[in-house]
Amino acid sequence: MMTDVCPKCGSTNIVFTETEELQHYGKENCGDCGRWIKWVPYPEDKRPKQTMLIEEGDDYRFNFGKHKDEMLSDVLRDDIRYLDWMVNTAEFPEDVTEIVEMVLEEMDMS
Ligand SMILES: [Zn+2]
Repeated sequence: MMTDVCPKCGSTNIVFTETEELQHYGKENCGDCGRWIKWVPYPEDKRPKQTMLIEEGDDYRFNFGKHKDEMLSDVLRDDIRYLDWMVNTAEFPEDVTEIVEMVLEEMDMS
C-alpha cells in the first residue's frame, strides 16, 4: 500500500489517511509535499453496507467506522470530537452530517 511514488516530488514517503466516507476507505498523500496521490478502496470486509446512521426510536445507530453498532447519543457523550470531525473534516453524505449537526446543536443548547 505504501509503495507509491509522488509524481510531483518523487518522494516515496506516502501517508495513508482513513476517511470513513462511503465511497473511499482512505486516501494517500505525499508526506513531503502534500500532493494527493490516490483514493484507497474499501477492503472487502470493511465496506459499509448502506445507510450510515440507522434511525432507532429517537436515536441513531452507527453502521460504520470506529463507533459501529453504537448509538449516536452514546458517541455524543463519550467521543464528541469524533462527531466534530464527521461534520467539519470528513466527507460524509449530507443526510448523515445533517443528523450529526442537529445533535451537536442540541448539545450546545442544553
Ligand atoms: Zn511529493
